[in-house]
Amino acid sequence: MFDSFLSKKISEIKDAGLLRTLCCSESAPSAKIKINGRELINFSSNNYLDLAGNKEITNAAIKTIEKYGFAATSSRLVSGNIDIHEELESKLSDFKNKQAALIFPSGYQTNVGVISALMSTEQESCIIMDKLNHASLWDGAKLSGKRIFVYEHCDMNSLEKTLKRTYEYKFKLAITESVFSMDGDFTPLKDFAQLCQKYNAVSMVDEAHSTGVFGKEGKGFAEMLGVSKQIDITIGTLSKAFAVQGGFVCGSQKLRNFLINKCRAFIYTTAVSPAICAAALKSLEIVKNSDKKRQHLHTISALLKNKLTNLDFNTTNSKSQIIPIITGNIENTEKLSLNLLKNGIYIPAIKPPTVPKNQARIRISLTAGHTLQDIEKFLKIL
Ligand SMILES: *Cc1c(COP(=O)(O)O)cnc(C)c1O
Repeated sequence: MFDSFLSKKISEIKDAGLLRTLCCSESAPSAKIKINGRELINFSSNNYLDLAGNKEITNAAIKTIEKYGFAATSSRLVSGNIDIHEELESKLSDFKNKQAALIFPSGYQTNVGVISALMSTEQESCIIMDKLNHASLWDGAKLSGKRIFVYEHCDMNSLEKTLKRTYEYKFKLAITESVFSMDGDFTPLKDFAQLCQKYNAVSMVDEAHSTGVFGKEGKGFAEMLGVSKQIDITIGTLSKAFAVQGGFVCGSQKLRNFLINKCRAFIYTTAVSPAICAAALKSLEIVKNSDKKRQHLHTISALLKNKLTNLDFNTTNSKSQIIPIITGNIENTEKLSLNLLKNGIYIPAIKPPTVPKNQARIRISLTAGHTLQDIEKFLKIL
């Protein structure tokens, strides 16, 4: 019974051309990737500062494993709260110019936990979302069970209309990303923050793809625009530019205290391994000192975007290290990805529901580990 149920469900996915399968690599993730014995240029990781496999980060983790072992074996509120958790949180909040931070085992869990916790205590509350927000933000919003109002992607007029429409709600949470994960474009954060203040909404910005990449010392997009003080809640991940694992939220001390009491995704999970905290602390130090890498990344990103635009590819409004090429149709996208693969370039097809219907694409993610020659090779093959 169960077996035929699963077969039927999988064929339905397959028939729609949406079947996902896992591709397995034989190398550590970097600007190159080894798959089926072939070395390919990897344009699909979030290893933005090329820190995956960094020796200093690895050694920091090893030293800490020798001191504490690997596991915390309990939640933070029971006996899993170790000095190194507090140290990491204190350094992350300094980094983001906020009073306090709280770490989670993943960025996904951070978003689901923070949003659902904030929405849990007030009946007359609602969420206001950019249409293209990341799945983890949507899942947090859906878990809250509260009304969700959606505004057009990065459109501040549409946000303002939505804020006006929701005036009767006592508590409003407006959520966006700074750099969008699938389009590489930006929210005009100054306007976003101002509108949230004007209409009395709490502002939350997910900086998963901008932390480490934009702003002085890689502090993020809000910091770069000088608006981080006006944003109530900042989300970051340790899994992308930091090349470690985990997520974090930054805000006021009161926000942290509230989450420690009300956030189920924090309360009912085992504390992050001390080895991860040590790796993240070392990574943070390196991230701050990586201006040269950031400069290189921005240079090659602008160059590639420019060349693709001149070749008439649809790269949306990308202005970052994430550059999509929209092909629209799933079959064409898969063909393109397969042809690139045959020629030594790894960029998987991205299909609905990760992106909207008719918006299938390949998404190029550049890292500081890529060279001008990598870009030239890619353009030639493309
Ligand atoms: C990747 C991503 C997350 C999730 O972070 P993980 O640490 O990988 O779980 C959250 N938000 C956005 C916008 C992301 O792109």
